[in-house]
Amino acid sequence: MKKIVIVGGGAGGLELATDLGDKLGKNNQAEITLIDKNSYHLWKPLLHEVATGVLDEQVDNIFYASQAQQHHFLFTQGTFSNIDRQNKQVIITDFQDETVSIRYDILVVAIGSTSNDFGTPGVNEHCIFLDDQNAAIQLRETLITKFSSFCSMVDQNATSNSDKIRIAIVGGGATGVELASELPHMVDAFGACRHNKMCSELLEVAVIEATDRILPALPEDTALSITNTLQKRGINVLTNTMITKAESDGFYPKDGNTIKADIMIWTAGVKAPDYLKEIAGLESSRSNQLVVKPTLQTTRDDSIFVIGDCAYAMQGNGRAAPPSAQAAHQMAKICFENIIRSLNNKPMKSFKYIDNGTIISLHDTAQGVIKLLGKSQMGVKGFLALMIHRFLYRTHQANLLGIFKTMRFARASKFMYKTKSTSIFTHRD
Ligand SMILES: Cc1cc2nc3c(=O)[nH]c(=O)nc-3n(C[C@H](O)[C@H](O)[C@H](O)COP(=O)(O)OP(=O)(O)OC[C@H]3O[C@@H](n4cnc5c(N)ncnc54)[C@H](O)[C@@H]3O)c2cc1C
Repeated sequence: MKKIVIVGGGAGGLELATDLGDKLGKNNQAEITLIDKNSYHLWKPLLHEVATGVLDEQVDNIFYASQAQQHHFLFTQGTFSNIDRQNKQVIITDFQDETVSIRYDILVVAIGSTSNDFGTPGVNEHCIFLDDQNAAIQLRETLITKFSSFCSMVDQNATSNSDKIRIAIVGGGATGVELASELPHMVDAFGACRHNKMCSELLEVAVIEATDRILPALPEDTALSITNTLQKRGINVLTNTMITKAESDGFYPKDGNTIKADIMIWTAGVKAPDYLKEIAGLESSRSNQLVVKPTLQTTRDDSIFVIGDCAYAMQGNGRAAPPSAQAAHQMAKICFENIIRSLNNKPMKSFKYIDNGTIISLHDTAQGVIKLLGKSQMGVKGFLALMIHRFLYRTHQANLLGIFKTMRFARASKFMYKTKSTSIFTHRD
């Protein structure tokens, strides 16, 4: 029986494992194994909501073992580190810290991306990166600890009227903007639960962007409108601000100023993990992604497919498909078809990225552009945009769980949101 191994159970990898399990695993036509370093999946575009307590990661997670059992694939928890192409094995470190080799006939690499500090001095030491669920939980803990200590200082009259909690976020992309827009609401919720003097007026949030505007993936007028929304909520948007170093007290831009910060977050740029650079002699891009052919097979080994953020898939317009959940989902679908076709000795399909638009959630509203049926893009804003943003997540869930379970999940999340959303602030002293 053919062995298909997928490394990385994220936006792309888990959808692929589920589809392959349902199609091939169910009838014992192939053995599908998913490997992930974590025990559960959480859709990455929601990480800023986990970090700010809007989303309960215990409700919206999917345990790999349970998904594997229901969709006829195997799950191994372990950290992928290398590929032995000669013997067709992936090398992982399992949860007992043992090095284990897993044989494959077809390998799919889907390990996503990490933040890119572009080698900026001090960033690695002083900044928090919103790269995975553990980082999101760590950021939430850091924020709550900071809010708590600020309240203690207020109680001891150890603050002056001008004292604020300063949070600086580098990166004016979707991650930085969505995170910034949640922070004032997080502080207000904290204040409602823990300290009546605590409110968003005591917060100073800055979004720092090196280029002349935030959200380069959106049209200029939409990005400008989102900038205005952020500014109305008291968030500073600093454009043309290139950070040259970070120190424990804040960021140091090129212009010689200092942006003082108590909490420093880095969301600028993405790259594939460093160890992917030329792993096992495969071709890689400048940002460590593995270069793939239109079929999503690597340029130097047809038995290895790559999907999602760690794939460098050049498109007809001369640019690579963007690192997005949308692209990861579309790649998973083509990869699924191509694996089936390769097993049946049929010609494979080419991956062509279809941009369906981008929507940025801004806590209680959203704004962006959508493309309907490949037509020109249309601006959306407000409740409709927020619903479309939510719909994208529920579509991902429906791909994994089916429509009925997704509806149950949606109901549970809504219930937990109403009854438990502030519990992260109340259970500690
Ligand atoms: C806050 C935020 C908001 C975003 N908003 C949007 C949005 O609105 N729309 C959009 O399209 N995209 C958005 N994105 C980007 C999107 O999340 C990613 O592009 C997408 O998740 C990439 O999918 P993937 O399958 O390639 O990787 P991921 O979803 O990141 O999954 C990678 C998986 O690999 C696992 N893994 C990593 N390294 C190893 C290893 N060494 N061994 C084993 N397992 C490993 C991880 O645990 C993870 O499960 C957002 C990202 C963030 C952080």
